[in-house]
Amino acid sequence: MTGKPENSSHENRSFWKRFFMFSLRNRIAFYYTVATAFLIAVVFAVIYFLVERVVYQQFDEELRSEISELFHDAHVTNYGIASLSQFRNIDIDDKGEEAADEDPDHDEHDEKEQGKVDVEFIQILDREGLMFRKSENLSRYTLVFRSGQEETIFFNSRLAGSTIRQVQVPLKDSKGLVGGYVIVAVPMKNAIIVLYDLQNVLFLSFPLIILTLFILTRLIAGRSIMPIDRVIATAEQISQTNLDQRIMMPRHRDELYRLSATINSLLDRMQDAFLREKQFTADASHELKTPLSVVKGNLEVLIRKPREREYYESKVKFCLGELNRMAQLIDQLLMLARFESDSMHSHIESVQLSRRIDEVVERMKPSADEKGIVFRLQELNDVRVAADSSMLEMILDNIISNAVKYSPSGSMVTIRVERKSNMVACHITDEGIGIPDEKLQSVFERFYRVDQSRNSSTGGFGLGLSIVKKLADLQKIRVTVASGEKGTTFTLVFPSL
Ligand code: ADP
Repeated sequence: MTGKPENSSHENRSFWKRFFMFSLRNRIAFYYTVATAFLIAVVFAVIYFLVERVVYQQFDEELRSEISELFHDAHVTNYGIASLSQFRNIDIDDKGEEAADEDPDHDEHDEKEQGKVDVEFIQILDREGLMFRKSENLSRYTLVFRSGQEETIFFNSRLAGSTIRQVQVPLKDSKGLVGGYVIVAVPMKNAIIVLYDLQNVLFLSFPLIILTLFILTRLIAGRSIMPIDRVIATAEQISQTNLDQRIMMPRHRDELYRLSATINSLLDRMQDAFLREKQFTADASHELKTPLSVVKGNLEVLIRKPREREYYESKVKFCLGELNRMAQLIDQLLMLARFESDSMHSHIESVQLSRRIDEVVERMKPSADEKGIVFRLQELNDVRVAADSSMLEMILDNIISNAVKYSPSGSMVTIRVERKSNMVACHITDEGIGIPDEKLQSVFERFYRVDQSRNSSTGGFGLGLSIVKKLADLQKIRVTVASGEKGTTFTLVFPSL
């Protein structure tokens, strides 16, 4: 029984939720309309109250002049001091008659029925509020009396179904005691109609204005956000297969232009990353496939017919070498994957740079000695840098081993540490084959090797420097490379401690 209404109220709620939540133009139109509705309501209220005040002011002015005429007739000289008896004999029907005389079409019967509301009415009461005198035009009606008022008051009341404006003046003696009241009223017929009409116009026009405003704002908002729809439509079409598609730039250089530009540059970066990833997968598979097919080919040759022991030994040694290379490559790939998945966090601490350099150089000594390469260390002993000590060792390891790998026999590798203002820089310079200028920035890319033939002898995969770059980025170390005719210099700039 109760299920249905609950359901429909739920549907209603979700309709409104959809209406406001999922449409920007509805939201813009709604907020704009609410704000404007509030402003219009305030303006309408101000207009109404101003007109009302002007109308009442005019009536009050008229009432005031009536009162002063009455007081004049009653020979009241001092406004503040008057007694009831002074009003006993004055002619209070004079005005009414005058007004009635002025109107030739005056219908006496009607006048009686409506309480003769075309003129002013006068009523004089004693201090208890009991009738002392009243103008004849009031016939059987009486004017409203507000007891206990010690000051002159103006207010609206009803007389024979019509609205009238009244003034009630207390008659005070020299001691300030109230001895009676003079009440004068004038009909407000036309003025009330004007105020009524004004009220109706304002009340009726308000919802109409608001509705029109909402519809117009919704239309305008819809037009202004149309480019967003285009952006959404294009963005929805873009997938992995058409990553080269771009959002059309709007004509005006506004926020939408910036949004489109931002999305386009994001797409540029995504396409770049996607292509790099694709290239990386292709390179990795190629690098792993080559030694595998070499090992497979060798084993197939071995199995075809019996061979000499020496032959077996040399082939197995060769295959082991290839497998070692594969294991080394897999290690490097795993390391890269770990750094790139952000699962690796650096533990930055104060590290004594010279000690780390000494340790790496010590490890490199045997391979350097093999080629007769000597190290020249120009360190500053007390220099400490902000780094992760094991990551720093890996960086130095890669750069110094490259320096040894790509240097001719009998050359020198120089490691120089210098302090620049609040930075520390470490330069590793070799006298090797160098790197051509146009290839300098590419050496940090994965699987990049300056010269493929060069590497077959040295045995690298082109992953070492990309690992160096990743590790340096993790520790906010700036790594740069410069190369001349002969020799290459890698520079590490450490952040200040
Ligand atoms: P690899 O394992 O092949 O050495 P790296 O990423 O360490 O891979 O280096 C990328 C390429 O940059 C190398 O293949 C080599 O051609 C070049 N390279 C790196 N260091 C030096 C150097 N000190 N002198 C000359 N070439 C270098």
